[in-house]
Amino acid sequence: MSFDKLGLNEPILKALKQKGYKEPSPIQAKAIPAILEKRDVMAAAQTGTGKTASFILPILHMLSNPKHKFKGHVIRALVVTPTRELAAQVRESAVTYGRNLNLKSTAIYGGTSVRNQKKVLRQGVDILVATPGRLLDLYNQKSIDFSKVEVLVLDEADQMLDMGFINDIKKIMRLLPDRRQNLMFTATFSDPFRALANKFSYNPLEISVTRDNETAENIEHYIHPVDTSRKSELLIHLIKTEKWKQALVFTRTKHGANRLTKKLIQAHITAVAIHGNKTQNYRTRALDDFKKNRVKILVATDVAARGIDIKNMNQVINFDLPTVAKDYVHRIGRTGRAGESGKAISFVSSEQFELLDDIQKLLKQTLAQHIVDGFEPSSPIAKSTSKVGKKQRRFNKQSGYKKKKRR
Ligand code: AMP
Repeated sequence: MSFDKLGLNEPILKALKQKGYKEPSPIQAKAIPAILEKRDVMAAAQTGTGKTASFILPILHMLSNPKHKFKGHVIRALVVTPTRELAAQVRESAVTYGRNLNLKSTAIYGGTSVRNQKKVLRQGVDILVATPGRLLDLYNQKSIDFSKVEVLVLDEADQMLDMGFINDIKKIMRLLPDRRQNLMFTATFSDPFRALANKFSYNPLEISVTRDNETAENIEHYIHPVDTSRKSELLIHLIKTEKWKQALVFTRTKHGANRLTKKLIQAHITAVAIHGNKTQNYRTRALDDFKKNRVKILVATDVAARGIDIKNMNQVINFDLPTVAKDYVHRIGRTGRAGESGKAISFVSSEQFELLDDIQKLLKQTLAQHIVDGFEPSSPIAKSTSKVGKKQRRFNKQSGYKKKKRR
């Protein structure tokens, strides 16, 4: 299928061509026509499936209708995201895909100057991308007029619910006009997500990117058993001997992220850390440096990394296993983008067996264990407490799992 069939206008099609996209991803093929028909949509799709364009493209199309043009604090499309990084990224997509249109967008989030944000809002914005807290702050200061909002997008809604934003979200929904289109995106259709969607949307079209997807990307994932005290050394060893170009490394704590970054730098490997204690300016710069290939290793905690789009990520490393098994799936969804295959490697010490076991139960599979020569752990790691699948399967980001293909 080509983009021409979806009903998008010429300036948008031109921008897609300029960007080099050949065909819509499965989520785009399903969501775009429904959104253009003004339907409410709820979609289960992970980062990396092209979900951002699946709502931004039809929004740009609908707003480029010159009938309505408002000035002042009035906004027409509102996208709410859990994190600052995701807000900035969604806004960037609006700019890229809307480059041939005369529409204004901005992103507002905590940690940056309120004064500048107010100034931009005063000048008029068609698409506002925001995190819940700062959005309500600015609304309370009368810097935002919700009365003309035609479309609301909740991006990574399940993450917002996990982060405790439920009351803020409900508050925002109640401030918007009743007649509006609701587009809700989530990684999984969890019960709290369904409850929210049922309450606030009208007969939504349910889209879930399925197992039989041809463009699905595969991720190989396994663990390196290693003692905790030797994890940094192992990482440095792998980066150097396997000549990794770049890697995204997850640590459990902010201090752990700082400590590891310091050790990498001491080993002459360029690295930056992003986590909640870093200023917004630092985080934006670090992410930019990483995206532009100016640093090799980005060390991140879960919250800071959620939803960020980093291209061509061949390696995702769980330096520490996540304490919540579900986060494992979010983390490894970061690799193997754009048809490339990726590796997700977890460093696991024997005392982390319980965390590993939780993840294996969630995945319904036992992860393969590869011990790196010279880094043998002082005690072995048990395989599993339950009868989970013994076959090594590949993680399929869009749909779950596929059996590993013979090669
Ligand atoms: P997302 O799932 O929104 O985080 O998007 C993941 C990545 O896929 C982004 O880097 C997009 O630029 C890219 N992308 C989105 N749609 C397409 C498409 N139709 N063809 C190729 N790349 C795409």
